[in-house]
Amino acid sequence: MRVGVLGGGQLGRMLGQAALPLGVKCTFLEGAPAPSAAPTGDVIAADYDDAVALRALAEVADVVTWEFENVPVAVAERLAEHVALHPPPRALEMSQDRLTEKRFLSEAGVGVAPHAAVDDEDSLRGAVAQVGLPAVLKTRRMGYDGKGQHWVRTPADVPGAHAALGGVPCILEGAVPFTRELSVIAARGRDGQIAVWPLVENHHQDGILRWSVAPAPGSEALQDAARRHVTRLLTQLDYVGVIAVEFFEVSGELIANEIAPRVHNSGHWTIEGSVTSQFENHLRAVLGWPLGSTDVSGRVACVNLIGEVPAIREILRVPGARLHLYGKSPRPGRKLGHVTVVGPQVDRSLEEIRRLAGC
Ligand code: AMP
Repeated sequence: MRVGVLGGGQLGRMLGQAALPLGVKCTFLEGAPAPSAAPTGDVIAADYDDAVALRALAEVADVVTWEFENVPVAVAERLAEHVALHPPPRALEMSQDRLTEKRFLSEAGVGVAPHAAVDDEDSLRGAVAQVGLPAVLKTRRMGYDGKGQHWVRTPADVPGAHAALGGVPCILEGAVPFTRELSVIAARGRDGQIAVWPLVENHHQDGILRWSVAPAPGSEALQDAARRHVTRLLTQLDYVGVIAVEFFEVSGELIANEIAPRVHNSGHWTIEGSVTSQFENHLRAVLGWPLGSTDVSGRVACVNLIGEVPAIREILRVPGARLHLYGKSPRPGRKLGHVTVVGPQVDRSLEEIRRLAGC
């Protein structure tokens, strides 16, 4: 079997790694030079608007999926006319616009931050009156890793805030007084089977995920709610594949922040920490195969390597540290790899890896 993948970054690379033992091959469509996924599959070097390349991908693949959530919806829809494609393009459409996403979550009965659409400075004033301050103004589209965001803390921050984000369509979200950030990763098969991993506790710096712990300590009471929420979202979208939902924990409740319709950075620990990784279950789902167990045998931590890679020898000396490098050249803010920490001394090893990674 061959899986076509739109995008060829590190998520593609790890999908390709998971494909190998299953006897599955991957072909990545990626326009950027030297894609991270290249060593784990074939690459069609082209942009998403290249009709010839899309046709070639549809011809070579038994099923097509994506690892990049900003694939144009029209491209996914066009591909779906020629080849099996999962998850559904509707999931892309919903998650590419923060306003549509919030509406979808609310309608599904999942709590979200108070929010309002902002199209100009006038509507920003109206939105501030509605949601209150402090609040965060976010571009509706193309925001990730904290990019496309501007905090509005006092009324004096209102003038110029919308212009600071380029005057594009935005959403104002009330600041959520969260105690911590959590995420849930789940998979749904073509037959409707659903598999949910334990909640993950996530720590961000400058809007970028730096490290995670799973299962999130003390999250047993929240796991049922997370399962209920993600099950409802997966079912309503008639979703096939892996999905991630990011939450804020507020007074023992889960408030959803965003949905990623793909394998997710906060699920990388599943490679070593779970019976089946998020990458393998994504492949199993899109291929119509039974999903694997999401059981975990102990606490696992995962630290992102951002901007630069610490001395490899130092990392490998840490008990239970498992290094994953993405083959990318260093650049400030760039995700270059991650280290998963497993084993009985996870807390001490996590501390050591965080020190090495500078987070
Ligand atoms: P996002 O790009 O929406 O994932 O936001 C990046 C980070 O900004 C989140 O991980 C939070 O730490 C913070 N953040 C985003 N939205 C809010 C909010 N409404 N209230 C408080 N913090 C937020």
